[in-house]
Amino acid sequence: MLTLYFAAGRARWPAYEAPLRKALAEAGIAAEVSPDCADPAAVDYIIFAPGGEIEDFSPFTRCKAVLNLWAGVEKIVGNPTLTQPLCRMVDPALTAGMVEWVLGHTLRHHLGMDRHIINPTHEWDPTSPPIATERPVTILGLGALGQACAGALQTLGFPVTGWGRTPKEIAGLRCYHGASGLKTALTQAQIVVLLLPNTPETQNILNVESLDWLADGAFVLNPGRGHLIDDDALLAALDAGKLGHATLDVFRTEPLPQDHRFWAHPRVTVTPHIAAETRPVSASRVVVENIRRAQAGEPLLHLVDRLRGY
Ligand code: NAP
Repeated sequence: MLTLYFAAGRARWPAYEAPLRKALAEAGIAAEVSPDCADPAAVDYIIFAPGGEIEDFSPFTRCKAVLNLWAGVEKIVGNPTLTQPLCRMVDPALTAGMVEWVLGHTLRHHLGMDRHIINPTHEWDPTSPPIATERPVTILGLGALGQACAGALQTLGFPVTGWGRTPKEIAGLRCYHGASGLKTALTQAQIVVLLLPNTPETQNILNVESLDWLADGAFVLNPGRGHLIDDDALLAALDAGKLGHATLDVFRTEPLPQDHRFWAHPRVTVTPHIAAETRPVSASRVVVENIRRAQAGEPLLHLVDRLRGY
């Protein structure tokens, strides 16, 4: 009988209890899973979320893996007490949510929907938007989420360019990588979507210089992490008319402080970190599959590289 410690915040336990027990039963794994932990040295696996119960992992001497419920790991990856393998979440339902958020906000800006939804003077302006094939989109980050969004945008006809850390060949996608590829990937992009993790290398990747490479009037969508953008540079580019709009889901400080300029800026849309939530039913299956793998001596899925930071 395995001992699983649900250290992802008590408030989440009611949503996860039944899906976790069901996924364990379906996988034929005998385990006791609980949000209580009487003896850290008896825990086999930790199901984790930042802000939960654990800051110090050192008493969990038997733990074979820490299974993070979030895709982003910046709040745990640098924890010096964490010596166990760390897995991040790649949840098909979370991915579906991200694809929908990115498609929805891309189409809003692409079609200029605001002109018709907010039209207090009843202006009759029959200007047609371009079609998708005429609107280049660049995605920074070609991981689980970036690739899924790229595929969906391509299905609608958008020419998609992607950028990551390492070289990639993905059908129909122009891929660039590394510092040298960033300028090429961003130059003349009309929509840029940020789906990078927050690491020392990715912070302020959109800054005064890189924002200037975008097409005039470009739209920025950030469902990645707030630290990817230099906020002041973004606001300056919006105020100067270089950018058309920024739709932001993530921020350096969350909740976004009431006095932050993003709230009041007419060309910024704030969504409250809701682009893609981990869904208990599908995420429980991912967690349990990793436990099954570890028990069977198979490689873990979605293992975090502690040196890379993601
Ligand atoms: P992932 O699979 O780990 O992919 C990360 C991508 O970023 C990879 O393509 C990686 O390149 C690239 N990358 C990392 N460091 C880089 C660097 N220094 N230069 C260039 N590219 C770099 O992550 P994911 O599952 O797609 O998730 C991406 C991020 O989305 C998460 O880290 C999280 O911050 C955010 N997120 C937000 C929400 C929300 O609700 N707003 C929900 C889930 C996730 P390689 O492919 O070359 O390794």
